[in-house]
Amino acid sequence: MPENNVEEKTSEKQTETSADNIRFDAFILDAGHGGIDPGVVGSDGIKEKDLTLSLAQGIGQALLSRGKQALFTRTEDRAMTASQRAALTKNRKNAVLVSLHIGRCVEAQAGAPITLAWDNGQTGQTPSVFIEQSRIFGEKLAAVLREKTYVVHTVTAPLRMQRTSETPVVLVECGCLENGAGRQMLTDETNRNALIQSLAEAIMAAAAP
Ligand SMILES: [Zn+2]
Repeated sequence: MPENNVEEKTSEKQTETSADNIRFDAFILDAGHGGIDPGVVGSDGIKEKDLTLSLAQGIGQALLSRGKQALFTRTEDRAMTASQRAALTKNRKNAVLVSLHIGRCVEAQAGAPITLAWDNGQTGQTPSVFIEQSRIFGEKLAAVLREKTYVVHTVTAPLRMQRTSETPVVLVECGCLENGAGRQMLTDETNRNALIQSLAEAIMAAAAP
């Protein structure tokens, strides 16, 4: 993957916390699925729940090693409800929850796109400030990942976790297990590590105002 050429701003002091200039300084990494819920299962038995755990741990370690605050909804193979996952967001300021999943692209699709999703506000249960902050963070994340040559789609949808979360939530669906490029990106260790580093760098860049 190409070098990250997005400069990280660390010296500017943030005094306001309105939607468009928020700085996130804590990252809650959520490994999707777990326990009795395997998520997507590949033809050779590889499970989404194991890959999301590996991605969450890798991204979290990369953030911690750069002096950022990273928290994990799960660090082992166990089932969790949406509200259990959102529990770490309670009373937390300037944090964002990044929920990691694997997509469902099929063989006919070229490449291994990354899909970013945030709440569309249609249930009326999500404070608009979170929807706006999620959108801004998600769009920045998409821009940085595109600079790193990943194919990125963005969508809005009702997100169950956002309804109980006290921070913005962005869902990151990485690649897929059902086509060659997706498997390559996720199951080849070198490629997966490159993806992990790219996601960590993109998350840090998107977190700056
Ligand atoms: Zn999933």
